Amino acid sequence: MASNTWPSWLPLRDDLRELTPYGAPQITDVVQLNTNENPFPLPDEVASTIVDEISKVVKNLNRYPDRDAVALRQKLATYINGLSGTSFGIKNIWAANGSNEIIQTIMLACGGAGRTALGFTPSYSVHPLIAKTTGTGWESGLRNQDFSLDIGRAVSEISRVRPSIVFITTPNNPTGSSTPLADIRELARVCGEIESLLVVDEAYAEFSSERSAVTLIAEFPHVVVSRTMSKAFAFAGARVGYLVASEAAIDAMLVTRLPYHLSALTQAAAAVAVDFAKTLQREIDLLIEERERVASTLTSHGYRPSPSASNFILFALPADRSTTSHDAWSFFLERGVLIRDVGLEGFLRVTVGTVQENDLFLKVAEDFQLQNRQEEKR
Ligand SMILES: *Cc1c(COP(=O)(O)O)cnc(C)c1O
Repeated sequence: MASNTWPSWLPLRDDLRELTPYGAPQITDVVQLNTNENPFPLPDEVASTIVDEISKVVKNLNRYPDRDAVALRQKLATYINGLSGTSFGIKNIWAANGSNEIIQTIMLACGGAGRTALGFTPSYSVHPLIAKTTGTGWESGLRNQDFSLDIGRAVSEISRVRPSIVFITTPNNPTGSSTPLADIRELARVCGEIESLLVVDEAYAEFSSERSAVTLIAEFPHVVVSRTMSKAFAFAGARVGYLVASEAAIDAMLVTRLPYHLSALTQAAAAVAVDFAKTLQREIDLLIEERERVASTLTSHGYRPSPSASNFILFALPADRSTTSHDAWSFFLERGVLIRDVGLEGFLRVTVGTVQENDLFLKVAEDFQLQNRQEEKR
């Protein structure tokens, strides 16, 4: 609803009247390469095991779920320890309905009126959006021209703003590249000095070869790491994210969360998915291979893809084109390929799909460039 159309009887907060609901276009019957989903459906053995487990809990839906999701959190702790050589237990993990709920709960606990959160843009647009809805102030620090982080400038921004919460997304969405762990450690150091919480959003960690920031938590208890099953686990529809953090930070989540927020159905399904992590993630290598193929083919067609350590690519449109990003986005959509206009003029973002989906995307990218060159000659 536009800001001037809210009815006067609705006592919506003044600071929310300008907002519109978050949303990428949901269009079916096209190749969907716009929300960084994993393109592979769940393998049959995983799907049937989930159905079996859910059928066991269905009869007990008269009861509230395990408020503390103990079984799921234990499995997630084991999963993270296996990846990062850490020794977290259930007291270091909190699970929620997607990492977006994690971010919201962090802001409810540590943000709010009179407090500020800081992030380095362009980055995940949901961070400032949740700041707004929780009444938390927002400050944007900048990234370099190539979207990497200037760590010296980032540190001085943090010292100047003195925010309660600092967000760093790595690999970063929508730009794709990761921030080296040594730089995250620098951010952790300065955040510690001013007693601010450093939230590392690692939604795409499994696609990157960089070490996880969970390895910093023992030394820096104010570092909290948000992860999700939506991307690497091919589990976006189930809505499961989790936070890895020191005990005190997890306790802050537990006092802020809604009671029984994670349904028994979600807990049962997610526990199976974590058990099958290896099976669900066996396509990651293929997606990484495809990411490199799509990037190099884009380059050969005259585009400039940003380096990516994730399952998507931000690419600059050919410099000689006469169209806006939005026109280019429409060109792709008219030919059956839905990609993302992230609001950065001159750029578009594409999610890495299956080989066939990527082939179609690359064909349309080539056609766009051919049309471009023909128009130039006229
Ligand atoms: C996709 C994404 C999330 C994910 O969200 P869920 O709520 O777990 O589906 C979080 N952070 C970033 C940067 C993302 O791109």
